[in-house]
Amino acid sequence: MTVISPKIMVVDDSRLARASLEELLRREGYQDIVQFDSSQAALEYLGLGRPDCALAPHLDLILLDIVMEGLDGIGLCRRVKDDKCLRHAPVIMLTAQDSSDRLRQAFQAGAMDYIAKPYREEELALRVRSALTLKAEIDRRRAREADLKDTAQKLAVLGRKLRQLSNLDGLTGISNRRYFDEAFRREWRRALRQGHALAVLMIDIDYFKPYNDYYGHAQGDECLKRVARRLQEGLRRPGDLLARYGGEEFVVVLPDTQAQGAQVVAESLRRSVEHLGLPHPQSSAGSVVTVSIGGAAVTPQEGQAEQELLSLADRALFRAKGMSRNCVCCRQSDSCPA
Ligand code: GH3
Ligand code: MG
Ligand code: MG
Repeated sequence: MTVISPKIMVVDDSRLARASLEELLRREGYQDIVQFDSSQAALEYLGLGRPDCALAPHLDLILLDIVMEGLDGIGLCRRVKDDKCLRHAPVIMLTAQDSSDRLRQAFQAGAMDYIAKPYREEELALRVRSALTLKAEIDRRRAREADLKDTAQKLAVLGRKLRQLSNLDGLTGISNRRYFDEAFRREWRRALRQGHALAVLMIDIDYFKPYNDYYGHAQGDECLKRVARRLQEGLRRPGDLLARYGGEEFVVVLPDTQAQGAQVVAESLRRSVEHLGLPHPQSSAGSVVTVSIGGAAVTPQEGQAEQELLSLADRALFRAKGMSRNCVCCRQSDSCPA
């Protein structure tokens, strides 16, 4: 069985004290020991203040002599406890100057234990053991905390993705009906609050059933994707929303837009789909895939249902289909019979 020995640092300016401490620790079974004869030498090894803790040395216990030339053990302990990478390493202070002042200073500096020299070996061994047990528990808890944090982060990312996916149409990648329903209600309420107009375009591919029958469902799907992408590219304002309404029907919401503006957008979308130039030999509206568009705009009034605007756009689409198809019908539009 391989036992990973805890890493212990000893800092003492007396060579003799270091040697006897190391001998005792080794007898107790601790093999991984680093020792320094001054705080300065220890600080060089520790390299405090590292932004990345993965690069900091790993230590399970620090044994510090208090009285040393230069920075004393209490000063060194304070520095270690201020370091975000090393502050979890327990510190035991050892000193021949046994006074309650020293004791208080040591604990104020963050030491977890204090032993007066000369120490009884058995007592020191027990205190070292209990400090290492505590450190192992701290490490376990920190690892669990890090795991939990990691899992929470992953869950948050997944949640965001899931929310996004549940708002998108699986085939075309544009917003789905569910998202449209929400967004449309939101825009309706905003328009009502601000007294602005709100426009909706209903867009339906012409003779799509014959297209499917002729080319097959897979190419029908491809056509839907191309048309969706082209419609999406045709929307300029950040607030405009395109969604798949169902089957081969799309819907566009145009906030703060009157019927005349809606007519302009609709006409430009109709033309851009036609310009895609997707061959459609089965269409009576032309030789390529085309769309018919019905548009409507209203300035919402208190008590008015948002469905009214959708019905108006639907009726306009019906009129467009009743004409030659590949055309736009908007309320207030000259080209469209009332
Ligand atoms: P009109 O010009 O009057 O709109 O005629 P149309 O043939 O386009 O309309 P109709 O409603 O009769 O047919 C719509 C077709 O759209 C029927 C269906 O097979 C096809 N369709 C609906 N959803 C999908 C889809 O997700 N993929 C494919 N490939 N086809 C679809
Ligand atoms: Mg349809
Ligand atoms: Mg159709």
